[in-house]
Formats: sequence, C-alpha cells, structure tokens
Amino acid sequence: MTPIANYINGQLVAPVSGQYIDIYNPSTGEVYAKLPDSDERDVNRATEAAQKAFAGWSSTPAEKRSKILLKISALIEKNLDKLAMAESVDNGKPLKLAKTVDIPRAASNFYFYATGLMHFASESHYMEEGAINYTLRKPIGVVGCISPWNLPLYLFSWKIAPALAAGNCVVAKPSEITPMTAFLLSEICTEAGLPPGVLNIVHGLGNKVGQAITEHPLITAISFTGGTLTGASIARTAAPLFKKLSLELGGKNPALIFADCNYEKMLKTVMLSSFANQGQICLCGSRIFVERPIYEKFKKDFVEKTKKLKVGDPLEEDTQLGAVVSEQHMNKVLSYVELAKQEGGNVLTGGKRATVSGRCKNGWFIEPTIIEGLSFDCRTNQEEIFGPVVTIMPFDKEEEVLQYANSTPYGLASTVWTENLTRAHRVAGELKTGIVWVNCWLLRDLRTPFGGMKNSGVGREGGWEAMRFFTEAKNVCIKY
Ligand code: NAD
Repeated sequence: MTPIANYINGQLVAPVSGQYIDIYNPSTGEVYAKLPDSDERDVNRATEAAQKAFAGWSSTPAEKRSKILLKISALIEKNLDKLAMAESVDNGKPLKLAKTVDIPRAASNFYFYATGLMHFASESHYMEEGAINYTLRKPIGVVGCISPWNLPLYLFSWKIAPALAAGNCVVAKPSEITPMTAFLLSEICTEAGLPPGVLNIVHGLGNKVGQAITEHPLITAISFTGGTLTGASIARTAAPLFKKLSLELGGKNPALIFADCNYEKMLKTVMLSSFANQGQICLCGSRIFVERPIYEKFKKDFVEKTKKLKVGDPLEEDTQLGAVVSEQHMNKVLSYVELAKQEGGNVLTGGKRATVSGRCKNGWFIEPTIIEGLSFDCRTNQEEIFGPVVTIMPFDKEEEVLQYANSTPYGLASTVWTENLTRAHRVAGELKTGIVWVNCWLLRDLRTPFGGMKNSGVGREGGWEAMRFFTEAKNVCIKY
C-alpha cells in the first residue's frame, strides 16, 4: 500500500493526528493507498514553514526562481510514465489521456510560468503635472491553493506554478479523492532544489484541511477550483477576512451547432467535448443544441459513434472511457439519468453502469449516454452532472439557441460550430461564458484569461491574469 505523506518545510511527514483515509482505485473499486487525515494543526505547521521561507523566496532573483521551476517542469517530463500511471490508477482516466494531456500539461504549466516570470512587467503612468506613477507588484506572502479531482496534477500545477513564479510561498491541498500525483510532485520539488517551506502540500478532507487553509489569518489569498457550492462556502469564510479570492467553479456548457458547420470536424470534436475524461472536464459540452436541418442526421451519427466507444480498463491502449472517479460520483451521475427520464427524456444510448470484465469487474464505469426530448430549462439541462451524459436538442433560430445556451446559472465555456464568420463573432459576443470556442474545443493558449462568469466563478487564471492575482499592486507616485 503506497503511504502518502504531507510535504511540509521540505520534509515528507505524517499527519499530526496519525490517522489515515482509504484511497480507492476507481477502475477496480479497491483501496490501494492511505491518505493523511490532516487537520488545522498540519495547516498551521505548513503556514509557519511557508511564512519563514517567504523572505528568502520572494527576494530570490527571478532567474534563479525560474531555473528551479524549469527543473520541476523537466522532472515532470522525465517522470511522465510514472506520473501518468499514478494519475490513471488514482482517477480512473485512460492512461493514454494522462500520458498525452494531464501530465504534459502539468509540465507546461511550470514551464510557462518559469519563463513568464522573466518577462513579467508592470505599468507606469506619466502625468503632465511633472510626476510619474509606477505600479509595484510584490508577491502577496503565503497563499492557499485548493484543487479538485478531475484533472489532478494539471489543475494543481496550474495554481502552484504562477503562485511560486510570482514569489509567493504556498500551502496547497489537492483533492482527497486523487492525491497521488501531488504527493509525487513533492518528491520532484525536493529533487529540483525548491527551498524548504516554499511549497507545502497538506493532504486531507475539504472540511478540515481546506477549511483551515481558508480560515488561516496568515494565508491572505486563496486560489480555488472545484464545485460551486464549495466555492460559495470558501467565499463566505474568506470575505470577512478580506482575502484575495480566485474561484474557478462548476459549469453546464452548451455546444451550439449550426447547419453550415464543417460537419465531419464538428462530429469528431463533439465526441471529445462530450465524453473525454468520462465527461469529467469542467469544459465538456453537456448541452448540445443542433440547428434543425441537420438534427436528425447528427442524432443518428452521434448515437452510432457513441455506441462504438470503448469503455474499459484505463490501462488498455484502446480504451476511450475509463472509470468515473468514485462510487458516490457514479451514483450521482446515474441518478441524473433517472431524473432525465422522469422529466420526459428519452435515452438514445447508454444510461447505465457499464460492466468491464477482468480486473475491472468491480470498477465504477458508466456507459456514454445521450438523452433527447428534454426542455432547455428542466433540471437535467440546468444542473451540473459532470459525467458522460449529454442531452441533444434541436433549434430553429439564433436568438432561440442563445436563450437556451444562456439560461443556466453557470457561465464557464461554450462551443460554436459555424462556417459563417459574421455569425461566429456575433454569437461569441452574446454568449455569457468566460470562454467561447469557435470550431474547436479545448484548444488552450496558456496566455489567455481562463475562468467563468455567473456561478462558474470569480476572477481569471492564465497568463498575466494569474501573475497579477498572485501579486499585490501598489502605486508609487513620484513628483519631480
Ligand atoms: P469540490 O468542491 O468537492 O472539491 C474541490 C476541492 O475543495 C477539494 O480539494 C476539496 O477537498 C476542497 N474542499 C471541499 N470542501 C471545502 C471547504 N469547505 N473549504 C475548503 N476546501 C474545501 O469539487 P470536486 O468534486 O473535487 O470537483 C468537481 C467540481 O470542480 C465540478 O463542479 C467542476 O465543474 C469543478 N471544476 C471547475 C473547473 C474550472 O476551471 N472552473 C475545473 C475543474 C473542475
């Protein structure tokens, strides 16, 4: 059984409580690791270590900070196979996906901010009155980073890398459901020469460790990715303490497919935006609106292709859908299929737990599911399901589909399929989401602002947005 340890002050340590929590392999349903059941005592130790390390790290020359982060990136690449295997076992995702997306992206996150920090500059404002203002951007101090289970190392590093690049020290908490690659990252950080206390990783439950990070008076900024309800709870705790907050929350993303789209390209991509990572990517498009002239053809082709998807052992090369992350999550997703039926939905394919023979016979798998016949405003089409379940629906007019698309409380991402350039721009402007993809999906340039509107979040990550979030701006006005 792999013993996971907290990473505090450069050391791998047991939780103060001495207690551990079972960690499951979702593709077999078996316990395979033990997670420290940490609490506020561990968070206090981590924060103390981070505070002590801050003076040194924040005054380390940019070039030296950059070199250490580049080393972390290189070591992630070097350990690609080991990390990908760990991610697949921990999360249930296909090994191939972890190898080609999750782990390379974690390396890119460190690479991007390691190089970015060398070019980060701030504004200056000249005044005719004979004065000059410049914006001094200093690191905040000790910051908290809390991440979810769906893209474990990918999203964990998306926060930690800019926080460290900007000169902060970090107390971080990965999801208790998928802690393994964050644990392996702590070993990599030591090897890369990251000074003790600069990054501290405390494992454990959200309502203990996450809550303690949010409440700690010396942690003055929180970067959080996870569910909307958790985000609201963090905001309630952090607001009276005047902490800087970045919240990346849930989504219920629409795909708008117009009849003039490049059909083959669209169909291929919609398969991915529906079912990649078992539909457990916050950016997956789970509400698919199709212009009526191509609705029947799309329905037939989409169902046919979905039926051919291989749900199977995540370690097999040709598996397209692995296990969902936990038994509880599987049951939640399946309960939405039942709800959809009660709401009048017709399940065109899937809808059930999938059985995978052999070593995965007790794993938590779900058949990729397509449902039609629902109204745009029913619960199935308004609430986040976060699994391999999508709904399809025809539309006639652009205003109508915009109403459908914008009708949920969420506003994370949307996808538009059309070859009409004017329409593409017009619709992109009207969609109330933080990200709009036209004729593509999940094409990411790390320099761009990333985040959601409405209940999908507050603030933006990515590029300079993250560097600005992780620094405090101070205006210095000099009269001459
Ligand atoms: P979650 O909110 O349950 O947990 C996220 C993290 O918060 C975990 O580390 C958890 O331990 C911690 N946490 C739980 N309660 C806490 C508390 N009271 N205080 C502080 N921390 C606490 O989310 P999840 O189930 O791990 O992830 C799935 C959700 O994440 C989905 O809603 C998905 O849409 C969202 N998500 C959003 C984005 C985005 O970029 N907007 C990306 C990925 C996932």
